[in-house]
Amino acid sequence: MAKKGDHRITVGLTCAVCKNRNYVTQRNKINTEAKLLLSKFCATCRKKTEHRETEKLK
Ligand SMILES: [Zn+2]
Repeated sequence: MAKKGDHRITVGLTCAVCKNRNYVTQRNKINTEAKLLLSKFCATCRKKTEHRETEKLK
């Protein structure tokens, strides 16, 4: 039986400019089908940049 929370996957968010993975977050793959694209602060670029979902973590 599917248990509660099965649809939440952990993903990494990577800076589109310097390609560093700066954040790890979770996404519900049922409610949010598209890959995440968020404006987040990047410590390497030292400004807000686009961060894309790039990898699935355990
Ligand atoms: Zn960056």
